[in-house]
Amino acid sequence: MKMVFLGPPGAGKGTMAVRVAEEAGIPHISTGDIFRFNIKNQTELGTRVKAILDSGELVPDSLTIELVQDRISKDDAQSGFILDGFPRTIPQADALSSMTTLDRVINFELNDEEVVRRLSGRRVHPGSGRTYHVLFSPPRVEGKDDATGEDLVQREDDKEDAIKNRLRVYREQTEPLIQYYRSRDMLVDLDSSPAPDTVYAALKALLNL
Ligand code: AMP
Repeated sequence: MKMVFLGPPGAGKGTMAVRVAEEAGIPHISTGDIFRFNIKNQTELGTRVKAILDSGELVPDSLTIELVQDRISKDDAQSGFILDGFPRTIPQADALSSMTTLDRVINFELNDEEVVRRLSGRRVHPGSGRTYHVLFSPPRVEGKDDATGEDLVQREDDKEDAIKNRLRVYREQTEPLIQYYRSRDMLVDLDSSPAPDTVYAALKALLNL
């Protein structure tokens, strides 16, 4: 099944995509993860996009589209995939529709207040990518990774100013995609405010998994 997970930052798209991808045996393709991987490894792409990611703005369409085209043409994506964080603009959605035919777009719904609450409490272990939340999923020792004891950090784009910017960018540039896909009869809404296991159960039912 070829799917897009759409929704504001912090709605849990990534967490759910990891679980569905494993259950369905299809790749989870997160453009944000691809950019962060390149930044961490100081590639040419990483150097180009670091300041953009830190500020919460969007990477230019042409660059992002090329990256996704390349990724979904790989063998492992032929029978299906989950796109998480792409498309984020109308030109990206148009480009995607000329590359492939999607089966479903899931619209993860979450209000702004909850987005800020979730993102501002998020902490990451840089070495492994393990994530915690200061309120909802705290580490055993404050500020330290459970497995290694190493320091946890806050993503630059999870700081308050960047969160506000990401939300503004989402509302202005990405939210129009809800109407775009709804009018094509491809969209299914999913309330993302409950606890992760509840959201996952609803999602599995939607996808007949
Ligand atoms: P995410 O992890 O999906 O929240 O993405 C983190 C950041 O990566 C975003 O704030 C953008 O700077 C960049 N990014 C990810 N996906 C896209 C996309 N489809 N188009 C443009 N920029 C993107």
